[in-house]
Order: sequence, then C-alpha cells, then structure tokens
Amino acid sequence: MDKKRYGRKKSDRPKQRQSNFEPRQQGKKEYAKVNGGVFLYSKPLSVSDLSTAINVPINAIIKYLFAQGKMVTINQMLDDEMIGELCLEFGYDFKKEKVVDAEHFEELVVEDDPSLLEERPAVVTVMGHVDHGKTSIIDAIRHTNVAGKEAGGISQAIGAYQKDWKGKKITIIDTPGHAAFTQMRARGASVTDIVVLVVAADDGVMPQTIEAIDHARAAGSEIIVAINKMDLPGANPNRVKNDLVAQEVVPEEFGGDVLTVEVSAKTGKGLDDLLDTILLKAEMMELKANPARYAIGTVLEANLDKGEGPKATLLIQNGTLSQGDFVVVGTTFGKIRRMVSADGEVLKTAGPSTPVSVIGLSEVPQAGDRFMAFPTEKEAKEVAEARALKKREEERGGTSALTLADLNNIVNSGKIQDLNIIVKADTQGSAESLKANLEKLSSDQVRIRVLEARAGAISDSDVLLASASKAIIYGFNLRPDQHVQDKAKEEGVEIRTYRIIYEILEEVERAVKGMYKAEMVERIVGTAEVRHRYKITDVGVVAGSYVLDGSIKVGEKCRLIRDQVVVYEGKVNSLARFKDRVNEVKKGYECGITLHNYQDIKEGDLIECFEMVEKE
Ligand code: GDP
Repeated sequence: MDKKRYGRKKSDRPKQRQSNFEPRQQGKKEYAKVNGGVFLYSKPLSVSDLSTAINVPINAIIKYLFAQGKMVTINQMLDDEMIGELCLEFGYDFKKEKVVDAEHFEELVVEDDPSLLEERPAVVTVMGHVDHGKTSIIDAIRHTNVAGKEAGGISQAIGAYQKDWKGKKITIIDTPGHAAFTQMRARGASVTDIVVLVVAADDGVMPQTIEAIDHARAAGSEIIVAINKMDLPGANPNRVKNDLVAQEVVPEEFGGDVLTVEVSAKTGKGLDDLLDTILLKAEMMELKANPARYAIGTVLEANLDKGEGPKATLLIQNGTLSQGDFVVVGTTFGKIRRMVSADGEVLKTAGPSTPVSVIGLSEVPQAGDRFMAFPTEKEAKEVAEARALKKREEERGGTSALTLADLNNIVNSGKIQDLNIIVKADTQGSAESLKANLEKLSSDQVRIRVLEARAGAISDSDVLLASASKAIIYGFNLRPDQHVQDKAKEEGVEIRTYRIIYEILEEVERAVKGMYKAEMVERIVGTAEVRHRYKITDVGVVAGSYVLDGSIKVGEKCRLIRDQVVVYEGKVNSLARFKDRVNEVKKGYECGITLHNYQDIKEGDLIECFEMVEKE
C-alpha cells in the first residue's frame, strides 16, 4: 500500500498556523474609517461607545482585547491606554481633547491672570483644647460691634459667618474643634487660611492643643495663638508661651514668627487685638482670588430642610456665585434658587471667601464636597453626569475589598499593607479573644487592624463598613443569612466563617507571612427550613422541612442554624418523602430530615448542607 495515503501530503498542511492568541491576524479586516481616520474624544468611553465611534464591531474590539489578556464586556469603560491601543490597532489617529476638564474639578488648579486677582478675606478656624473657650471666642467676636451694623435679618447658624472689621472682612468657621476640620481634610478639602489656636491662660497647652497644632500644620494653615481667660487670677501667659515653644510653635517675642494675643472672651478684652492680628496676618499672606469667574468652593455643611429641600452652606473660595447659577456638587447639579448670608441677608451675588446658605441643589451634598458653578444648565448637567459615571466606575472597579488571597500576593510582592478585619462572634468573649490574638499577628509588613469585634449576627452595616474600609469579615460560630451573603457579594466583601478560633488565627498568620494557599473551602449545596418537628418511635426527632435552595442528601455534611448561630454540625442521617426513605430532596419539596446524633431541632431552624471544595 502506498504509505502516503496515511499521511497528509506536505502541500495539504497550512503553511503557517495562526495562534489563537495572535492579535494581528493576517489579512486583518479593514473597517471603513470615519472622520478620515482621526478619532477625537474627551469623555470616558465604554467598549460599545468606542465601537460606534470608530466603526469597528464590538466583537472585534472584545476579541482584540481578549487576545491581549484583557477580558472586557460591552459596557465596560476603557482607560486611555486601552483606547489608544485600540485606535492604533484599527488604524486611527487619536487624541484626547480636554474639553470639559471641569468634571475633575477637585484637581483643577485654576490659574488666574494676576491682573484679575483681588484681595479676599481670610478664612479662619478656631481650634484648641476642650473648655479653653473656643465657642466663647467665636460668639464674642460675632457680637463685638454689631450695634453699629444695620441688621439685615436674623443671624443664623450656617456653619460660618463674616465679621466686618475696620473696613475688611474676616470669614470665621463657627464649628469649633477639629472634628469638622479633620472631616473636611479627610475629603481632601482645605479651606482654612488661619487657625486661631485657643489656649486657656490658667491651664496651658493640653493634649488637644497639640492635636490642633498637628492638624493646622498638616493642612498648611498659619497659626495665631489666642491666650484666653486672661481675666482669671491664675492666668499665666508666659507659661503658655513656654509650653508652645516646646511644641515648636515659637511666639514672635521668643524669636519665632507666631503671633500671640492675650484675650478674655468673658470680658471682651483683647478681642479687638485678635481681630487686628488676623487682618495683619491675612495681609502678610497676600490672600487673593478672582471675583470675575464662576464660583469654585467647598461645602461646609448640608442638611435636608423639610420645607426647602437640600440646603447647604457653601464657602466660595474663588470666583463669584450668583443667584440663578448652575452648580455641580459631588455628582449632582442644581440651580441656586436662593442664597442667604449668615446675617440672614438675601444675596444676589457672593464673592470669594463668603459663606452662603443655598437652596436649589437636587441632593444633599456632604461636608467637604467641592462645588463649581457653570454658566449654563447644559454644561452643569453634562459635568454632573460625567462625574456620576466616573464614580460608578470607581465603585465598580476600585472598591472591591481586599481578600486574603490578595493580601498574600501583596506580601509576596514586598509591599506593605494594612489588613483590616471585622470580627463577629456568637459571644463577646470570643470576639475579644479573637481581636487580641489577631492583632498580635501583625508583622513588619502587615499591620492587622481589627475595626470592630462584637457579639451578634453579621449585618448589612458590617458589610458596608468592610466595603468602605476594605476589610475582611470573620464570623465565628455564625452564618450570615442569605440577604447578608448577597450584600457581601454585591460589595465584593469576603466573609469567612469558622468554628475554631485557632483555624482563623492560623489562616491569617499564613496570609501575613505570604504563605496562604488556595485551599479547601466549603460550598453550600442546599438549605432547608424546619417547618415543624415531630417524633417517630425508633427514628427520633424528625425535622419536617422545606428545601429552600439546592438539594439535601443523605450522608452529607450539614449544620443546624438557629437565629444565625450554628448550634450543630454533623451529617444528614436520613431523608423521607411522605413514608418513603429517599436519598435526595431538591429545592421546592418538603421532606423529613433526621440529623446524626442530634435531636434538639426547633421550628424555624435552618439545615444547611455543604461540601468541601478546592477554593477557586
Ligand atoms: P470650648 O470647649 O473651648 O468651646 O470652651 P467654651 O467656650 O465652651 O468655654 C468653656 C468654659 O470657659 C465656659 O464655662 C466659659 O464660660 C468659660 N470661659 C470661656 N472664656 C473665658 C474667659 O475668657 N474667662 C473666663 N473666666 N471664663 C471663660
């Protein structure tokens, strides 16, 4: 026989085989180019947006990215790098236009023509130790000299006010203390030019004084020291100054550059001096802004007013805000319907450093949110929508919480990481013991922080906390209910449940050392709810149950859960449908279940069957 009949002729073989993962196929399909092959874009684009824009089928884009090892879906947003790569692949010149840079206005650094800049009032925050007189000073300043002023309305608490002083203005944030200040800073907003550090002359520098100094420094604000309670016989301003030097806050008279003023909020003595000093400092700082632009600023506080809807105090940091302006805050926009000063005066316009209470926003913003005004509704709407989209993308992509496997990889890559853990247990004792032992596992590379250790079921709010702080939840002797499991899945939060403390510690220790390996995990295969309980001679207690999910099998591992607490772990002993013994009962059917060596079954209990599988 001719041998050749059994093999393929040389000429039959394809000359060069194309790998399935080879991106550039020979004889690549050309698509008709739009816009002469130049692609301009300015906004984030999804796969399908790009497909339409450059006239390339969605599948071709997905296929190309897949070949690059990137799995994308139709609605997934593309980053600039991907867009660039795809344009090149499909023969386009591309350019990202910075048309509406405004959508990232937090990062926007506005550059004003120096000739347009005008002096603006200083923004002042009063800080200091509790009881040293912050509130008293804020109030006393507000009321000095009001007699000379025409009352425009009833003064209101809007979180800040403006003091007229010697023909100038001073903006005073009137929520004392660093809570508000830190909250703002945590959100990236820094509104304060000058911190007035209040120190009681009879008490000296105290722990919160030092904290306030740290906050002021971190924010890059200037410090003026008000030595308060000078009316008291025990007042000792020199001691205060010496204490301050120890904190490297060196008063002028000691050779430093920190201005100090001796005051008494009680008698009002020295307050004029304090105001003069603030003006002096402000002048030295050359604080300026451009009133001839649309306003940019920060939300100082906000709430929902029953009658008027969302109400917010905005601090205008640059530009001028006018009634009727369209404003974007966070991801929403609105029209300034009404604007009121802290004196209750209705304003048509407000310039730099003015705090105003506004009505007309569509949602309640958060303190620390930045805002920006736009000339037209269309622009404001576009920017707000782009920001909302970006936020959703970030939430989808960015906030999925840390998993143990991630941590393990991070450790192995040599980076330093915090591991945040939330502990929920059936008793407070075990929660505390877990917390103490977990924290001891911190290493040079991984700092373990137990954010919460409490007795009680795993709740939605635990999942939210975990999601917000990228934490892992450990449940000890607990099973989260379906609702919580769904929520965790949605938020990308890892919930790990154990019945032995040692196993939790061992697992975390391995992850901390970078030795955590994919391992056996349990998979729930079925859940049944006990609807009634009855006894059968020779058989024992039977759980008359309804299979809610999956299936229940004889001999399978199972646990009995009562009010989220695991009360038994063992095996399914027997199953019956009507009078017949069966091996398996599926979802939607009723059955009688007996458990191996366990009789204490109650109505409402859940029987959960599980198997151990290798973790993905
Ligand atoms: P804050 O906690 O720093 O806001 O302090 P407060 O303003 O609430 O003042 C704390 C206490 O100190 C109150 O009882 C005030 O009346 C009192 N206080 C404030 N300033 C003075 C002052 O200049 N002299 C005297 N004698 N007492 C003052």
